[in-house]
Amino acid sequence: MCKENLIVLILIISIVSSVTYTIPDYPFSSWEPADEQNYSKSNRENDYEIRWIIIHVAQGSFQATVSWFKNPKSRVSAHFVISKDGSKIVQMVKIKDVAWHAGNLQYNRHSIGIEIEGYVNETIWPDSLYDKLSKLLIWLANQYNISLKHIDGIAPPNPNEDSGIIGHSQVPDPNNPSLGGGRSHHTDPGPLFNWSKLMKYIDKNREWLNNISEADKLKISLVTTYGKTVFKVSCFYNGEKNPYSLFRIHVDDKIVGILGCNEDGIRIFSLDLKSGEYEIYVSNSRTKSNILKISIKNKEKILYFSLAAVGLIALSIIYYIFKIKKKSN
Ligand SMILES: [Zn+2]
Repeated sequence: MCKENLIVLILIISIVSSVTYTIPDYPFSSWEPADEQNYSKSNRENDYEIRWIIIHVAQGSFQATVSWFKNPKSRVSAHFVISKDGSKIVQMVKIKDVAWHAGNLQYNRHSIGIEIEGYVNETIWPDSLYDKLSKLLIWLANQYNISLKHIDGIAPPNPNEDSGIIGHSQVPDPNNPSLGGGRSHHTDPGPLFNWSKLMKYIDKNREWLNNISEADKLKISLVTTYGKTVFKVSCFYNGEKNPYSLFRIHVDDKIVGILGCNEDGIRIFSLDLKSGEYEIYVSNSRTKSNILKISIKNKEKILYFSLAAVGLIALSIIYYIFKIKKKSN
């Protein structure tokens, strides 16, 4: 390898490694990683075939559930958390990794877990939850070849024997497969979760994925560089806002992921960028957005400068107190 090639290679590696992977698998969700203590790294679907989607009720608020999965003490996680009205969907574990939610090792390995904000026997979910949840299920089923049927009763002891969408209460206890709810016999999502409504929304939205149109105009703008670097993308079609439109994200011409504008034709997302200069744009097969040239300042330097300033102020205060004391003596 000649010297120039080596320099180019090092440059490419440094660009790739300076962009943290913050893009979720489901393009209409945002990415907030669970603590690494709370799931198993894996390489699905090479390791384990994904056959089931397991629906849970979180017994808590959306934010409390997200925080719990980020807490290394919890030792539990799910791939997705969805708010009570379906307006917020967060992905916390990559689909290739095994989340800990079913209370059954085999079912964890062969499933995707979704936690819904709310409480068993208490929460009544609005139609918007069933609408947004059905779209997530349709996308997952299509992507990972999972059956969109809901089975009755307890699922088979061996997860490889069937495929579908079930509640946590239908996961067999690994020690006594005639009992449901996994090892601890959980009862979620409970009798208030309306399975027939969910199946109706699945039927209604089945074509949603095929009918997604690509925007003919994409616009990207910078929201903030404070902490994470946050961007806003607008998708348009024929001059109107274009909902559920997919786009690729390019950082210095490298594609770092695919996301979609939401129902409102807008998408806010963040990237963990280290200090440096970047050219960022989004594209689809039809069009390419404006290019954002951004410069991320060295955050460590700023921190050291502020620490030094605080130290200097503290020192001068001590000096003056000392001086005043001396005078009064
Ligand atoms: Zn559960």
